[in-house]
Amino acid sequence: MALIVQKYGGTSVGSVERIEAVAAKVKGWRDQGHDVIVVVSAMSGETNRLVELARQIQDRPVPRELDVLLSTGEQVTIALLSMALNKLGCAARSYTGHQVHIRTDSTHNKARILDIDDKRIRHDLDQGRIVVVAGFQGMDEEGNITTLGRGGSDTSAVALAAALKADECQIYTDVDGVYTTDPRVVPEARRLERITFEEMLEMASLGSKVLQIRSVEFAGKYNVPLRVLSSFEEGEGTLITYEEEEMEEALISGIAFNRDEAKLTIVGVPDQPGVASKILSPIGKSNIEVDMIIQNVGADGTTDFTFTVHRNDYGKALAVLEQTKQELGAREVSGDNKIVKISLVGVGMRSHAGIAGTMFEALANEGINIRMISTSEIKISVVVDEKYLELGVRALHSAFGLDDKQK
Ligand code: ADP
Ligand code: ASP
Ligand code: MG
Repeated sequence: MALIVQKYGGTSVGSVERIEAVAAKVKGWRDQGHDVIVVVSAMSGETNRLVELARQIQDRPVPRELDVLLSTGEQVTIALLSMALNKLGCAARSYTGHQVHIRTDSTHNKARILDIDDKRIRHDLDQGRIVVVAGFQGMDEEGNITTLGRGGSDTSAVALAAALKADECQIYTDVDGVYTTDPRVVPEARRLERITFEEMLEMASLGSKVLQIRSVEFAGKYNVPLRVLSSFEEGEGTLITYEEEEMEEALISGIAFNRDEAKLTIVGVPDQPGVASKILSPIGKSNIEVDMIIQNVGADGTTDFTFTVHRNDYGKALAVLEQTKQELGAREVSGDNKIVKISLVGVGMRSHAGIAGTMFEALANEGINIRMISTSEIKISVVVDEKYLELGVRALHSAFGLDDKQK
């Protein structure tokens, strides 16, 4: 008998019929004698609907109130799923985040889980009940409702699995595992049987939304066995694991991409000490996160400086940079919010040379101009024009032999 934490995403609980199908699946695990904790998301589209309702009142609603609103989506699902389980003769109890003491910091809309008190859940499990917990939410020190950022139910599930030392954390979603790239963009993408925590972390932080980044961080840190599976069909899914000797040494494990990018350039800034900080400090002070940074080699005592930000911050960053231009006596500020980032990820990169060359050649063969490049130990990212996203990802997927030949 094992303790299993299962998480069902929005599409998996998208209708009453789907919720009843999830209940039957959960019952199957219970009938095999396992203890089951189920974490659920809001029904598909619900969180977006709530965000939109708030926007109709205020462009930037008070984060605390937004959390009170957003957390309601998951509360609907826990109740309906518990009812469906009860109908099948399974004793079940639903809980919101604060009822089971999922304690977070106070960063509304993007809170971090600090700890979970497992007493109440343990008690229910000991009584033979299935415990159904609302994902994506918690409570801060003062008792305010918090949410964990989009996709946060993944993190709720992993955190519960870590707190209760579960034998496995299963993330049920609308694909049957982690693929070499988003199967919606590349139909030839292949399901991976295993992927390392390190690679999954890179994939998630570079834009693959199949798992929230923090859930992978958490699972790696607390050694939670994590599996991504389909809630619609049977299968082994993908196991996220530590690197093992016998793991097949794929050169590239996957390709991630991010559409939420924008880049800004300040031209003709004085090429002297402190200039990078003079450009980026005001950006940081405005709470804008900077991703890639490039500074050109100086000429005539001046240089150009380019960086990328989240597309939502583009307007704000442009305004801040205009101000910096005045202060530094720079020549010009320009920007582009129709760019995307495509990244190759793989631990195999550590021991193989020439990957960047193959990548750039594959893009060149399609006439795709690379605007920025950045590398680290197990990834290479390029920024290209938005219109080349699909073409670029497909070209790289086939250049690195990732295509499923059977499709
Ligand atoms: P859920 O609502 O279950 O949390 P998400 O929409 O958050 O589901 O995540 C699943 C989606 O992630 C898939 O439908 C797929 O389009 C997308 N995705 C992006 N990259 C990948 C990848 N490498 N492997 C599998 N799915 C991916
Ligand atoms: N309902 C939340 C969202 O849509 C959390 C989640 O589904 O993981 O982002
Ligand atoms: Mg998700």
